[in-house]
Amino acid sequence: MHRYRKLLKLAVQNPQLAAYKAKITYKNNIVAKQDFKKNTGTARPPLCVCIKLTNACNLRCKMCGQPREGHKEGDAKYAPLSFFQQIVESQDYANLIRELAPHRPNIYLWGGEPFMYKDIFDLVRTIKDHKMTCQINTNGMYLKKYAQEIMDSGIDDLIISIDGPQEVHDEVRGLKGTFHLVKTGIQMIQQMKKKRGVKKPIIRVRGTISPWNFEYIHSLIDISEDLGANSLNFNWTWFTTKETGTAHQNLMKHLFDTDAQSWIPYEMDVIMDKEKREKFDGIKHELQKIYNNNSSLPISMSPFLKPDQVDDYYSNIRETFGHKDCFSIYTKSYILPNGDVTPCPDFPDFIAGNILEKPFLDIWNGERYRNWRLEIKKRGLFPICYRCCDLFLSDVGFV
Ligand code: SF4
Ligand code: SF4
Repeated sequence: MHRYRKLLKLAVQNPQLAAYKAKITYKNNIVAKQDFKKNTGTARPPLCVCIKLTNACNLRCKMCGQPREGHKEGDAKYAPLSFFQQIVESQDYANLIRELAPHRPNIYLWGGEPFMYKDIFDLVRTIKDHKMTCQINTNGMYLKKYAQEIMDSGIDDLIISIDGPQEVHDEVRGLKGTFHLVKTGIQMIQQMKKKRGVKKPIIRVRGTISPWNFEYIHSLIDISEDLGANSLNFNWTWFTTKETGTAHQNLMKHLFDTDAQSWIPYEMDVIMDKEKREKFDGIKHELQKIYNNNSSLPISMSPFLKPDQVDDYYSNIRETFGHKDCFSIYTKSYILPNGDVTPCPDFPDFIAGNILEKPFLDIWNGERYRNWRLEIKKRGLFPICYRCCDLFLSDVGFV
């Protein structure tokens, strides 16, 4: 099916979310670039505020770059227990939502596993009371348990991770039974939607393409269709190398006196070698099959790689496929589980302020945020940007 017809189908399913997507594409392509050119480092209010509700997670996925439990002194792959216990109280989030309401950004909730945040449904109701869209990115393990609350709270969009058929998904996610639980949860929500005659929440399957599921990614089309998903999105593995991470750490120390260690858990063994090359040949075939699909499902990919670009993605980290600047820092912002505000999703070393101490919008255009935007503009991308999901924000094409 032609990609524009697929997009139209998605828009009919959730017009509010489609309007947001259209707006963010427009803003990234035009307005963010205008802000970028201004040389002041300021930006109009964000279109998306991403709240990381908790660092805690109930899974241990193979490709995850977030720090794990089991703190070891001097090893940033592991974080102390306190890191997983950080939370902002729902009353403080309510204040944030009230502050943001006049600008109506999309609110994106994630983690760790966001459903482990105790007051998640209070927060969703506050967001919906203020007429903003609410997206939740989840590993799907709590969908069955909270199906009723999910339906009642008015969530617009559930982005649910599935990495392949049952055995592959369970292997990648590190726990047997995971696929079955996620599938059952989605089916329950679909049945409730049907019974109530509603379209929301729309269900989006997200598959992370990694060395652990390369050979099976095409199967996600059938799996998503079976589950009645509204769309399927592929992300490539976000990772870095020791050389790039160290260069970033040194630069952050020099520019901002920040000890940037968040890259360490993202140093992954996904770089090309002879044995892996065979796997990459497998992924090229799978990718070609995805490109040739005749499914009516909207299928997107970030970054939008062609089969002959896969080698470069993994073996040449400086290749950014035409993305020379980060525009996400003019449209999106991230709030960490302790209230810290940072421009960057996966590498949140640079902190611009804290919502428990200052209004968010003062931080958004405060001196530190402006300095970050100006420095990156002056120097070009920082080393950690090369495999950051937000670098490819404007790149979500449909196949
Ligand atoms: S569910 Fe997400 S946060 Fe949890 S381990 Fe897996 S990738 Fe990491
Ligand atoms: S591309 Fe760089 S500046 Fe932009 S969000 Fe990612 S890490 Fe931050």
